[in-house]
Amino acid sequence: MMNNDQMLTRDLEILREKGNFRQLPSVEHLGRWVRSGEQPMLNLSSNDYLGLATDESLRKAFMEELSAEDSLLSSSSSRLLTGNFAVHDRLERLLAESFGKEAALVFCSGYHMNTGILPAVADAHTLILADKLVHASLIDGIRLSAAKCIRFRHQDYAQLEALLQKHHADFHRILIVTESIFSMDGDVAPLQQLVELKQRYPGTMLYVDEAHAIGVRGQNGLGVAEEQACIPGIDFLCGTFGKAVASVGAYVTCSLPVRNYLINRMRTLIFTTALPPLNVAWTEFIVKRLPDMNERRKRLATLSEQLRTALKEKGYACPSESHIVPMLVGASKETVLKAEELQRKGFYVLPVRPPTVPEGTSRLRFSLTATLSSGELEQLIDVL
Ligand SMILES: *Cc1c(COP(=O)(O)O)cnc(C)c1O
Repeated sequence: MMNNDQMLTRDLEILREKGNFRQLPSVEHLGRWVRSGEQPMLNLSSNDYLGLATDESLRKAFMEELSAEDSLLSSSSSRLLTGNFAVHDRLERLLAESFGKEAALVFCSGYHMNTGILPAVADAHTLILADKLVHASLIDGIRLSAAKCIRFRHQDYAQLEALLQKHHADFHRILIVTESIFSMDGDVAPLQQLVELKQRYPGTMLYVDEAHAIGVRGQNGLGVAEEQACIPGIDFLCGTFGKAVASVGAYVTCSLPVRNYLINRMRTLIFTTALPPLNVAWTEFIVKRLPDMNERRKRLATLSEQLRTALKEKGYACPSESHIVPMLVGASKETVLKAEELQRKGFYVLPVRPPTVPEGTSRLRFSLTATLSSGELEQLIDVL
């Protein structure tokens, strides 16, 4: 008889054979570089899209204006008890004003956001229609809800409309769930089209996760919804602070009733310790400056387009329309080898394998940063 540890080890061996075994990489961080082992490698795997997390002058400016009240390192409680500080309210007002929405609500992480909002607002009389490629946190939120869920083919809005037609009379509420920039393919959803679709079916709400787009897209850095001029049409306009915003946490901008409802029903808001005031103050500091970051946004767009073009010229399939640029390799083992080769050549790129992506679509995922120099990008393109 095998004991439990032996059984777990056997399962891990199966993952290892398929090239899908995961380990926590231990890396030393040196600004834009990381080191694991001998040589420093350019970090092409972080979500610091605008280069704000490695910007020392920004951090210094923040520290200089930081008040004692905002410098607390713990909130010591849920927001519903004593963990709601002035800075939480200030950030929410800033977000609501920036987006021109009635209200906003801030969460500990994007994972809390997606696993909390969906179960709170989707009951047994709700139908969730979710894009096939939405992030794991959205899938988990759907699983935790009592709603019926149908996943439509990735960006197949004819299928989505057929589902709306077929089902809308049978449910009190329908939620369409999508990302704007998709995590793994880097392609962009036509949000304007989804808003128009939603408006044709009363009782339908639109939920958009802009985790990869906040800060990066739109004239004021408010995301794809701003770029496509459809912020007012999105009922749950969500995003996270751990990526381009260089902080931690997440937000939804919404109507006042939605905010109040979430405060009463959202378990990942109610039953968790609020973000520390210091982190929220840093988020506020960055969010205030997002409108002034067009140079960085333009730079990132240019670099991304150069890499996408180069990959296509080399014959790789690349569905991306953004700064998330996958290079599809196929088999997991080959992808791992390719990643190791690039790491030896000084570029820290990680393989993405099942179950994160479908079987047979393992890939290298370049996650570009505005601080990448043209010379560095050329070198990368040369070694691909
Ligand atoms: C990163 C990400 C999340 C999770 O956000 P965290 O703040 O890291 O928990 C949620 N949704 C999408 C689409 C993401 O890419």
